[in-house]
Amino acid sequence: MTWSPEQALEQAALAGIHRIPIPTPFAVGRVNCYLIEDEPLTLVDTGPNSGKALDELTVRLGERGHSIDDLELIVVTHQHIDHLGLVEILVEHSGAEVAALGAAAQRLAAFDEDAEREDEFAVEVMLRNGIPEDVTVALRSVSRSFRGWGSHVEVTRPLDDGGTLELRDRRLEVLLRPGHSPSDTVFWDAERRILIAADHLLPHISSNPLISRPLDGSSQRTQALVTYVESLRKTREMPAEIVLPGHGEPVTDHVKLIDSRLAGHERRKEKIHRLIAEQPRNAYELAQALWGNVAVTQAFLTLSKVIGHADLLINEGRVREVDDGAVVRYEAT
Ligand SMILES: [Zn+2]
Repeated sequence: MTWSPEQALEQAALAGIHRIPIPTPFAVGRVNCYLIEDEPLTLVDTGPNSGKALDELTVRLGERGHSIDDLELIVVTHQHIDHLGLVEILVEHSGAEVAALGAAAQRLAAFDEDAEREDEFAVEVMLRNGIPEDVTVALRSVSRSFRGWGSHVEVTRPLDDGGTLELRDRRLEVLLRPGHSPSDTVFWDAERRILIAADHLLPHISSNPLISRPLDGSSQRTQALVTYVESLRKTREMPAEIVLPGHGEPVTDHVKLIDSRLAGHERRKEKIHRLIAEQPRNAYELAQALWGNVAVTQAFLTLSKVIGHADLLINEGRVREVDDGAVVRYEAT
């Protein structure tokens, strides 16, 4: 049977998993943290580094009879600041262990330096794809101003793709599902058929496959959307009954949702192919043709979407990149 989102939350709560939506200053709205009442007492994601987030988390934990100090394990699902900003403060209070993908540990530990490098990388990608320099300068200062909501993270329990996270009452399979970010990790309770999916699958919005440096920190960009589509296909095959996302309500029909996401990417890919077939264009020109002049803060996001779909077309042999030394253009083959 298929649950309603409310029933899914009730079922999760019966399994000891309680959603705690924490406010963020970002357009996405609240981020879902999940308290797992087990041994150790576990919090999956923390919300951003802000007094407001900490206050709300404290109150919500209190409603369940816990304090921040009681936390024993914090699980970090991926490298984005709305999910991990409070880690350092929570660890200071509680001494909790921190579990996250081992391959991301170095970068999480070097948060400030890594964020700076990621910004440099983003500027390079934007310039190479036709975004005007003043937009990249503005975007970089926006990104710097957001950095305070993040935190460096000392991972004490590195996790492996395919490994397990054992709590007293449950066994969670650790599965890497990159695409939205290179470190997206989901946690699968096969016995209860509950998937803690963070931003890998969201109910109300398509997860943005953001162009990024790979996990090893090298400067070759990821094929974020190509990777994301592969990850979605894997998740589609799982017999999940309840998917607990990083934002919004639980997903109770993940196959249907994933099919509609895949169809959406397919449609956009064809639209971008038509635009490229009309005349060669760079990614910025394609983004403008699709969405007009978007807000500066959305420039990198829309660029990521265009490049992601162009990657799919390149892999299919229908489009090729033409590099004039300054800017990359796409043309139909
Ligand atoms: Zn995210």
